[in-house]
Amino acid sequence: MRPTMFIVLVFLFSLSFSQADTSLPRATVCIVGSGIGGSSVAHFLRLFSTSLDDAVFDIRMFERNVVVGGRMATVDLSGEVFEAGASILHPKNLYALNYTNLLNLTIKEPSSSASSSPSLGIWDGKKFVFKTLGFKSNLPFVQKLVSYANSVLMFLRYGFSLLKMERFVQTAVGSFLKYYESHELRPIFESVEEMLKWAGLYNLTTANLGQELTDAGLSPLLAQELVTVITRINYGQSLAISGLAGAVSLAGAEGGLWSIKGGNWQMASGLINHSNVALHLHEEIESISSMGKYYELNSTKGNSYKCEVAVVATPLDEVKIRFTPLISIPKRRLQHTHATFVRGLLNPEYFGLDAVSDIPELVGTIEVPDLPFSSISVLKRHDEKDMTYKIFSRKPMDDALLDSIFSFRNETIRIDWGAYPHYNAPEVFAPFILDAQHLYYVNAFENAASTMETSAVSAENIARLIMSRYFGRPPFSSSNLGSYSGTGALRVDL
Ligand SMILES: Cc1cc2nc3c(=O)[nH]c(=O)nc-3n(C[C@H](O)[C@H](O)[C@H](O)COP(=O)(O)OP(=O)(O)OC[C@H]3O[C@@H](n4cnc5c(N)ncnc54)[C@H](O)[C@@H]3O)c2cc1C
Repeated sequence: MRPTMFIVLVFLFSLSFSQADTSLPRATVCIVGSGIGGSSVAHFLRLFSTSLDDAVFDIRMFERNVVVGGRMATVDLSGEVFEAGASILHPKNLYALNYTNLLNLTIKEPSSSASSSPSLGIWDGKKFVFKTLGFKSNLPFVQKLVSYANSVLMFLRYGFSLLKMERFVQTAVGSFLKYYESHELRPIFESVEEMLKWAGLYNLTTANLGQELTDAGLSPLLAQELVTVITRINYGQSLAISGLAGAVSLAGAEGGLWSIKGGNWQMASGLINHSNVALHLHEEIESISSMGKYYELNSTKGNSYKCEVAVVATPLDEVKIRFTPLISIPKRRLQHTHATFVRGLLNPEYFGLDAVSDIPELVGTIEVPDLPFSSISVLKRHDEKDMTYKIFSRKPMDDALLDSIFSFRNETIRIDWGAYPHYNAPEVFAPFILDAQHLYYVNAFENAASTMETSAVSAENIARLIMSRYFGRPPFSSSNLGSYSGTGALRVDL
């Protein structure tokens, strides 16, 4: 951007603020973290203040990395871009859909597979205990036939339990939709427990998924195979996760999943661009101290910032922010997921098969000790002998192991994610308000479930808390999915 244009934008921006109602306290809201949680807080604060037409505040956002997006990130293999972290969105993720429209992003369907309905194989470490048909054709009626045959195969193995699983997921999804109700109908929640109880979701966090599915009448076979495959792919964990995390994970295996062309991280960057945020990239916050009427945030660059409101939009479990006075949150372990991306070709011998074409496009696994990976999926079929794969595992995949699974590898990229909470029912939740003042924690909600959408839903509630608790102006709008009218310039303070 040319300097003159920048000055004009900053001037227009300050002019619009100087004309605003000065009866509200001017404040700086500092947000630590530029993932979907932090960027959504910024977005909703601007959305709610434009509807009030007078709230005056600056937003500073700190991101320790050189790019925004957090766990929404892409990886580049031989010049092609794939989702490295959060990859799929559910058709009922209404905030994500709304962001996509608002920001003019393009939807990509299906999200992460090489074909619309990838063949599935359930691997127990020695053999495939279940396989769907992998026949590919460009003819729609053949595709329909294959899909029909696969439904029959599923039904023959798991029977009516499949319908019970579907009902279990739909009930949870239906309850979650309450979070999109208008502000008149939906309270501002001061705690995660209150928020979950209001939607009828709290009880699902008190028992593990295995127990919940037994109560719902599912057969042990379905739980131990298909359900376990899905929880291992989506949360790297077993049926021991909470019922709610499990329901969310199963919803992530439904039809109609989507993602954003070019990368889901664009939701974060777009929201930040549209929310008049002073973005401090590559600046890590190392301490947050309450000074009475404001917080002092200190960064590893030696800078100090004064903020009337501070928002932590990152899991605190593995970051080293010092709080003064100390804050108290329950101990939580993050589940590490190792995402390994390989361009090459799987070795059919590893799976006891003759040809690579016999290997399902999605190899899921059940809970068997020492099984070295959770899933292997084809991201892209370049040709019959050249594919890009994504492997999820609980431990790193070393070269020797990869060499036994692959016939050859042209490129390998490994990412170790502190991915999501290690779920442990009954879940204990950190507070949304960390100090009874104006220090907020978006990721307290991650113990319910960790997704892009749940972060956005939590962020919306945090923005409402700030509007009502700091500005004394609870936002009331009939729809928080409404259009955003702010057109702020992005400021980057490096
Ligand atoms: C491998 C993987 C697969 C996933 N798959 C899906 C999926 O398919 N669908 C889905 O919906 N969800 C998925 N998730 C979960 C999803 O990514 C998260 O729930 C969501 O992105 C969390 O967003 P957030 O903004 O709350 O946190 P984050 O995205 O983690 O953002 C926090 C940001 O804060 C920054 N930060 C941390 N500490 C500091 C500091 N001290 N100073 C400054 N900056 C700091 C971090 O660098 C980071 O950018 C997946 C996650 C992983 C890891």
